[in-house]
Amino acid sequence: MSALQEVPIGRRSLGVFRDLIGDEATDAALAAAARLRARLGERVIWNINSTAVGGGVAEMLPSLLGYVRGADIDARWLVIDGNPHFFHITKRIHHALHGSAGDGTPLDAAAREVYEATLHRNGQELGALLQPGDFAILHDPQTAGLAPDLLDAGVHVVWRCHVGHDKSNTEVENGWRFLEPYLRRIPVFVFSREEYVPKYCDHGKSRIIQPSIDAFSPKNAALDANAVRTILVHTGLVEGPMPAQPDHRFVRRDGSHGRVSRHADVVRLGRAPGWDTPLVVQVSRWDPLKDMAGVMQGFARLVDGGAPADAELVLAGPNVTAIADDPEGATVFAEVLEQWRALPHGVRDRIHIASLPTTDAEENAAIVNALQRHAAVVVQKSLHEGFGLTVTEAMWKGRAVLASRVGGIQDQVEDGVNGLLLDDPADLDAFGARLRWLLENPAEARRLGEAARERVREHFLGVRHLLRYLDLIETELDGASSATSSLASRA
Ligand code: UDP
Repeated sequence: MSALQEVPIGRRSLGVFRDLIGDEATDAALAAAARLRARLGERVIWNINSTAVGGGVAEMLPSLLGYVRGADIDARWLVIDGNPHFFHITKRIHHALHGSAGDGTPLDAAAREVYEATLHRNGQELGALLQPGDFAILHDPQTAGLAPDLLDAGVHVVWRCHVGHDKSNTEVENGWRFLEPYLRRIPVFVFSREEYVPKYCDHGKSRIIQPSIDAFSPKNAALDANAVRTILVHTGLVEGPMPAQPDHRFVRRDGSHGRVSRHADVVRLGRAPGWDTPLVVQVSRWDPLKDMAGVMQGFARLVDGGAPADAELVLAGPNVTAIADDPEGATVFAEVLEQWRALPHGVRDRIHIASLPTTDAEENAAIVNALQRHAAVVVQKSLHEGFGLTVTEAMWKGRAVLASRVGGIQDQVEDGVNGLLLDDPADLDAFGARLRWLLENPAEARRLGEAARERVREHFLGVRHLLRYLDLIETELDGASSATSSLASRA
């Protein structure tokens, strides 16, 4: 059986951005893409990661690559294969780079053996696909170990690390020490924040490129109130009745219509929240660093304190069996359920724990879209965060966001201007107080939400992100041609 899976990518025209960012910026993006296409010729830009669904990387790739392909550049997406043991180790590295010990699994020689064997098997298949001169953008620790063989084969390698920690500690060092042998020869790295660049990659060629969202993807495209209500009632996230003219449709990335037909698997005591119930929502993978349990405890404390009278909490994440490279999901989900069961009846009544269907990633995205649009407040109480696309997504939808002042979240939200930040994510009283303020001051919440949308329009839409990548690849091509010409002049 093949170890590598190629995820098909459609073509999207950059022209759709005209209305959002104006003619000048759109024409500049089209011209940059045309210039690169001419220089690349037959070369392919491969993006390689470890899951086709779930998490920020899987969210961004189909969008960005769709626009690149729309400009006639041959960009593709490959997903490596690994067994649970491999993903256990890579999850441990992921935690280490976030400064946390995870489950304490040692990152020792035995772990290295498993890591290298898996990547070697995937690398053999890559060898048959990639040609010298192609580009391989390797995403995250899961794929870093592919670099040495690809470099030997004459492929241009870029490592894009989406995680990191603002301050080093022994865990962070542990993680980098594990990865260092694979990174040594990579000429260029991309990080989301300056603070994430470790000394091993601090050779002056690390670039900072902040992630972005696609305003036209099923996750972020406009949905009217009728579609939002249909989707939420149909999935069971909100109580009926259905609107008079139900509309289950959403627009797929290829422009065709999809239909939300699956239901969410929701754990709750009784009825779903009503349409007019103010919802507090966190959408995340079931990962300890997202602190779903902490959100629940903070909300429970607020409800126990008597106010606000009618708000309810929805914690939503992917169905835990779905995400191949996130083996911890089931354990975290089970812990959240256990804590929920221990809450007093009257508090539990107002907390809904939803597993969203993932069989069709675009249907899943449309459900998240509807849920984020309907939320009175979107929270992201992460303990650490690489960037936090859920925050960007909620801001784009004009929601009031309450999020931790960690990682890339603090690059997005300006406290009191376009959202609220929580200085200490573990401080449940401060969380409750800020949440209560947002719920009790809807006009202020609306003001923050409107400013949030502008913030995203200016800084976090995919077209800007794309230009930075096109520039990076062009610079690498310049470097390669000047290296060739200096060799030729020496000969
Ligand atoms: N997400 C989703 N369905 C879910 C849970 C999460 O589509 O059930 C998406 C979410 O909307 C966001 C991405 O997964 O686009 C998570 O990215 P983020 O940067 O917030 O965190 P990561 O998971 O990469 O740590």
